[in-house]
Amino acid sequence: MDLTHDAKISLQTLTALVNSRTPDTLTTVEALDEFCVRWQWSGSRTHDEAELASVRGLRDRLAGFWDAGEDEVVALINALLLEGRALPQLVRHDGFDWHIHATDEQTPLAVRMTVEYAMAMIDLVRAKDLDRLDRCAGPDCDSLVLDLSRNRSRRFCDAGCGNRANVAAYRARRREAG
Ligand SMILES: [Zn+2]
Ligand SMILES: [Zn+2]
Repeated sequence: MDLTHDAKISLQTLTALVNSRTPDTLTTVEALDEFCVRWQWSGSRTHDEAELASVRGLRDRLAGFWDAGEDEVVALINALLLEGRALPQLVRHDGFDWHIHATDEQTPLAVRMTVEYAMAMIDLVRAKDLDRLDRCAGPDCDSLVLDLSRNRSRRFCDAGCGNRANVAAYRARRREAG
């Protein structure tokens, strides 16, 4: 079972959200606005500190999808869907073809995020693809990695760890040669 395009996008934004903890970049309402524009979060917003705090408050819990066993992941998905009162509906809007919304536009941002990420995680569980959630292999890097590559070859986060590892390997080869 292949992941749908919107499940992939949702999982990418989930990964960006949990990685915004290390270092913490989601510290202001403006930073949250940028995050929402970048990841195309439409729907109602309040643009205030309470909204920021509620989104920040999701991050540790959502990071629990990484390093968890399948049963644990399923329990978290079900809890999030229940709390968010998810009611899946097929919708088509803004040029996006049929996809699922399980909350309405008036639902607070943090709840909409919770439910959307939980829905995307359903797809990952059903595809038996939980090993796509990984950790960056860079030394001293705490970033979480989403590996959407076909051959599961991804080892590093987007923050430059792959480049640093290449440079270090190159220097080591030079030293051995010289
Ligand atoms: Zn939509
Ligand atoms: Zn890294």
